[in-house]
Amino acid sequence: MASSTEQFDAVIVGAGFAGMYLLHRLRELNLSARIYEAGNDVGGTWYWNRYPGARCDAESLAYSFSFSSELEQEWEWSERYAPQPEILKYARHVSERFDLRKDIQFETLVVSAHYRDDSEDWVIETDKGNRAIAKYCIMATGCLSVPQLPDIPGIDHFQGNLYQASKWPHEPVSFTGQRVGIIGTGSSGIQAIPVIAEEADHLYVFQRTANFSVPAANGPLDRDWVSEFKKNYRAHRKNHKIGNGSGFGDLQIEPRIEIKAPILRAEVSDDEATALLEDAWRSGGAKFMSAIGDQLMNEEANKFAREFVYRKIHETVKDPETAELLCPTNHPIGTRRICVDINYYDTYNRDNVSLISVEDHPIEQITEKGVQVNGEVFELDTLVLATGFDAMTGALLRIDIQGAEGEKLVDKWHAGPRSYLGLAVAGFPNLFTITGPGSPSVLSNMLVSIEQHVDWIMDCIGHMKTNELTVVEAEQLAEDQWVEHVNEVANMTLFPNGGSWYLGANVKGKPRIFMPYAAGVGPYREICDAITADGYKGFSFH
Ligand code: FAD
Ligand code: NAP
Repeated sequence: MASSTEQFDAVIVGAGFAGMYLLHRLRELNLSARIYEAGNDVGGTWYWNRYPGARCDAESLAYSFSFSSELEQEWEWSERYAPQPEILKYARHVSERFDLRKDIQFETLVVSAHYRDDSEDWVIETDKGNRAIAKYCIMATGCLSVPQLPDIPGIDHFQGNLYQASKWPHEPVSFTGQRVGIIGTGSSGIQAIPVIAEEADHLYVFQRTANFSVPAANGPLDRDWVSEFKKNYRAHRKNHKIGNGSGFGDLQIEPRIEIKAPILRAEVSDDEATALLEDAWRSGGAKFMSAIGDQLMNEEANKFAREFVYRKIHETVKDPETAELLCPTNHPIGTRRICVDINYYDTYNRDNVSLISVEDHPIEQITEKGVQVNGEVFELDTLVLATGFDAMTGALLRIDIQGAEGEKLVDKWHAGPRSYLGLAVAGFPNLFTITGPGSPSVLSNMLVSIEQHVDWIMDCIGHMKTNELTVVEAEQLAEDQWVEHVNEVANMTLFPNGGSWYLGANVKGKPRIFMPYAAGVGPYREICDAITADGYKGFSFH
């Protein structure tokens, strides 16, 4: 199995948007690099998640690369929120336009990455027998790339078709004339349910926890509007990168560069607050979460927004009992990723859709014929699992990563991830992580965060090249202080009350730590830039 050893300046793990942009930037520095990618194409998330209804929840004009003006001018998005096939096509286009594919080895899983203290380099090994030696090892393994299967007995016994949202087949899947069940009502389930319902004979939705969802107000993009928008693209991109928001941007023709102080709940009357929420609901998308500036900080403001959504659910869903079941009661709105949907609540008005709450009566087992709840078996032809991911740390901890003196990442992170800025880990020299725990990552428009991380790392590597430095490492004290700061910021918000995958709460035995940095992409970028300006404070070099 073992093949000859190859040598690169950098090895990148993963060929999603992060890995692709890394490769492009490394080449600009005249550094050699190889990407190993488990899938057989680029695109990462958009390669794997092909379930019906999959599309982005950040607007495409913002959820796309900004590093090349030519790319952003020439690419035409068809809809406000592009569907998965179009985003995958975009990823492929990027890989071809920048000639990336020749340095990507597909269908290859990285199984280990070990740092060698004597030669100050990394040895990376794959399941295909590759052995690569590189000065830098960069993990672009994704925050949501390891599917989490439900811990329900009998899942292997099901005799019908079984599909996972995050590992959807490449061939078309038909639901026509079928009794379909779906487990999971997070973003994936909420996108898939309305589309499957249109085709299936009957759809049974097994809901354990209701989630908040806001309408996408999706639709085709008007070409004239887009060309006007594109005249201001640079200003828009700048707008996405600053402020304490999440990088979703303000997609008006005229960009709003000046960040206005957010309107707080206490500053407006009930009627005014309702009008703000109503406007955000009508215009669509995740920006609903910033309609009132302190919705995620202040329980009163959050309750006001929750009650607004409850009213919307009850106005939309005709059966009051179903409407009540769809109202989330166990977490503040936004503390689990807000879902963005197309006709989700309205789907429950269809005669061929049944909502089965499994909150009080968990799914007992999956039998050969279907899903058993409270003694009753719901017979199914097809079962869809939209049960989420081992998020943020899952992909990193599945690789045997060993740093200086053989320290294992899995040991270092046994009580939860510890990282400096989500970019580097003390004791793991010349290893970088993209959108790692401790960075805004999953709380943000990920393309904004990915580009910022890659640019920061490239500046750091460029600095090392210029100054003929061999090794960079996060200092232990800097890492400890950053972890403390991330926790402090989280505790100023309502996020820790969400009980979601942000905290690792969906994976049995996973430490409960709020993993992302909640201060927003602007302040985070300022901190990273200040660290660079201060001679890479908190990093040591030699
Ligand atoms: P990924 O796209 O996850 O790519 C990581 C790649 O690494 C994968 O292809 C994986 O196969 C590979 N890999 C992992 N481990 C190994 C290994 N050991 N060896 C080899 N290869 C490996 N974010 C937003 O901001 N807006 C959205 O609208 C949005 N929608 C999403 C929809 C879905 C269904 C999901 C699951 C996530 C969504 N996200 C969204 C988050 C999304 O993951 C990011 O936006 C972005 O695509 C991440 O890019 P990435 O390159 O960092 O990681
Ligand atoms: P998720 O939000 O973690 O949802 C998983 C769902 O499965 C939850 O409803 C969960 O219920 C349910 N579940 C798990 N095990 C179960 C069991 N044994 N019995 C019953 N229900 C069970 O995962 P996701 O929907 O894949 O989304 C993950 C993240 O990916 C999102 O938050 C978002 O960041 C990203 N994403 C974005 C989009 C988009 O709109 N562009 C689409 C998909 C995904 P509990 O909550 O009770 O555990």
